[in-house]
Amino acid sequence: MTYDLNNRTAVVTGAASGIGTEIALVLARSGAKVALLARRADRLADLADKIAAEGGQALAVSADVTGDLTAAVDAIHGAFGPVDLVVNNAGVMLANPLTEGRDDEWHRMIDTNLKGLLNVTKAFTADLVAAGASGTADLVNISSIGAHLTFPNYAVYTATKAAVTHLSANLRTELGPLGVRVTNVEPGLVTSELADHMDNPEVDAHLAAWREEVPPLNPADVGDVVGFAASRPKHVNLRQIMVLPTLQV
Ligand code: NDP
Repeated sequence: MTYDLNNRTAVVTGAASGIGTEIALVLARSGAKVALLARRADRLADLADKIAAEGGQALAVSADVTGDLTAAVDAIHGAFGPVDLVVNNAGVMLANPLTEGRDDEWHRMIDTNLKGLLNVTKAFTADLVAAGASGTADLVNISSIGAHLTFPNYAVYTATKAAVTHLSANLRTELGPLGVRVTNVEPGLVTSELADHMDNPEVDAHLAAWREEVPPLNPADVGDVVGFAASRPKHVNLRQIMVLPTLQV
């Protein structure tokens, strides 16, 4: 589906694959100019080409959300001007028993899923507040249903997502009065590359068995939800959205 997002300018982090790619596509097909941000430049270039071939406008910006974003922001402003729709979607999921003490994984998840999200938010807060003063402005954070669940091996990942959910609710109390909507999206199981970086065969097998039992959503299902939320009238803020496969209970 497409929505009316003409005259909107978006940045989507983690646009190189999965949910981020599909969010970028639905926003572009709905008329928004979309800056595509992730580390893999080749993936972003392919997606920008695809959007252009469909008649949309996209800019590939290779950047790491945990690093200095000055060049990325300058490139986006230079091409599109200020943004009014920021989608914090970049994330990593690494799972191991806590007893393994994998602080390398803990730091990567905290740095990307939480500190990276804050880094991107900081980079575009002035744009969002300026946009919200007269028009529609959105900060959309992709959390996870894991923010509310308890199960073994994913303690740090789910903690980062619980932090994103709580951060979103609290940011809304600051940004809402400034005209900026904050939307927290909590997907359940979604087919993507998210689990491809895990290195524990037992944990992999458990997730694979769960995905057999519960057919996951497509990334486009989540993209559609973001397109819908961003296209509501300015006074309507979908604050919290859980989107699950029907069979995931
Ligand atoms: P993917 O692995 O397909 O997408 C993750 C994206 O994040 C990639 O495009 C990756 O691109 C980007 N990324 C990772 N680290 C960085 C970084 N340091 N800087 C910039 N970009 C980065 O998985 P999903 O599409 O599933 O994940 C998207 C979001 O959805 C995540 O936040 C995830 O936690 C959340 N989610 C996913 C669920 C699922 O079941 N799949 C369920 C609930 C939530 P690159 O490597 O090129 O930088």
